[in-house]
Amino acid sequence: MQNRQYYLNPYQVDYQTRVVSAAKIQDNYHVVLENTIFYPEGGGQPADTGFIENIPVLDVYEQQGVVYHVLPTAPQNNPVNCRIDWDRRFYHMQHHTGQHLLSAAFFREFGWQTWGFHLSDEYSTLDITAEELPSAIIREAELKINRLIQADKAINTYFITDLAEVDPKLLRKEPQVNSEIRIVEIAGYDAVPCCGTHLSSTGQVGLLKIMKTEKIRNMTRIYYRCGERALIDYQDKFDAVSKLALMFSSAEQDVLERVAAELEAKRTAEQELKKVKQQLLAYLAEDLTKQSNGSIIVHHLDSGEEPETAQLLIREVLALGNYLVLAEVNNRVFLSHNLTSDLNCGEIVKEYGIPLGGKGGGKKDFAQIFFADRAKLQEFITVVKSIT
Ligand SMILES: [Zn+2]
Repeated sequence: MQNRQYYLNPYQVDYQTRVVSAAKIQDNYHVVLENTIFYPEGGGQPADTGFIENIPVLDVYEQQGVVYHVLPTAPQNNPVNCRIDWDRRFYHMQHHTGQHLLSAAFFREFGWQTWGFHLSDEYSTLDITAEELPSAIIREAELKINRLIQADKAINTYFITDLAEVDPKLLRKEPQVNSEIRIVEIAGYDAVPCCGTHLSSTGQVGLLKIMKTEKIRNMTRIYYRCGERALIDYQDKFDAVSKLALMFSSAEQDVLERVAAELEAKRTAEQELKKVKQQLLAYLAEDLTKQSNGSIIVHHLDSGEEPETAQLLIREVLALGNYLVLAEVNNRVFLSHNLTSDLNCGEIVKEYGIPLGGKGGGKKDFAQIFFADRAKLQEFITVVKSIT
């Protein structure tokens, strides 16, 4: 049986042990060591990485009670020097311990069970049996958890063969004890069976912050960060709020209200602008009909205008009389008419526009065509004028 050094001392970084076997599987070597310092993936916690004799450890997994280390080359020395990636291990220990605090607090304070746990380099999640998690409860839970962190409670891990060895008041989840079970206990608060690596006291979590929640079926998924990850997130958000406050010449605590007011003002201004634009288009339509001496009206809009403006202009003109209107914006010509003749906008585009290299189509009363070449666009308009 291999000694699990990560259980005996999760803070140990270096270790020397012997290679028992190294089997080549595809491109890698799956190495078994006499004892190991590397945690294999399990219980929601990813595997450790690091080096065995300067050979990078790509993955660590457990199969039928044996821990395998995946290496790109086989170690030549025996015994071998092992070293884990401590930053990665500590990140896992912090977030795994954070998970125990979250699970314990949500169960003890609110009665919700933990259903799942996932830890990765980017984020950590916990699924609990709460159908909803209002922000007031999130704040309350965060406060309680951070008080447990500040209380710096001892975290003890031990193996049992009989449940009676654990204080029943502390036991959150009853394991099926038919062999040796590992218990992780936050002193005086919570005890659960668990196989991961944990901190030796809650204080080392430093800080725990829930980042967001998501409804998953009839449960809630909680995204959270601990320690430096939580601090960096706070720094980033603090910077963002400070910059916003500066931008809006507002105090940081008033910035939200200020932004909401600015957005409301923007919405009102946009509505006003829309109204004024519509009025302008109505005047423009009136002008165009007064100046026209036939049933065809052509107008080129500024390049900054939206295609929608061309369509609105057409509507305004057609409301004043019977015309064929060609409104152009950004090399796109919109055609529409309400004449009693058999004129067909779609057919005009097909017959005269496409042969000139335009791309478009449409129906009898409305069509559009785009020309990459402006000279061809002018040619198309001239042709349409001549046939109507
Ligand atoms: Zn654990």
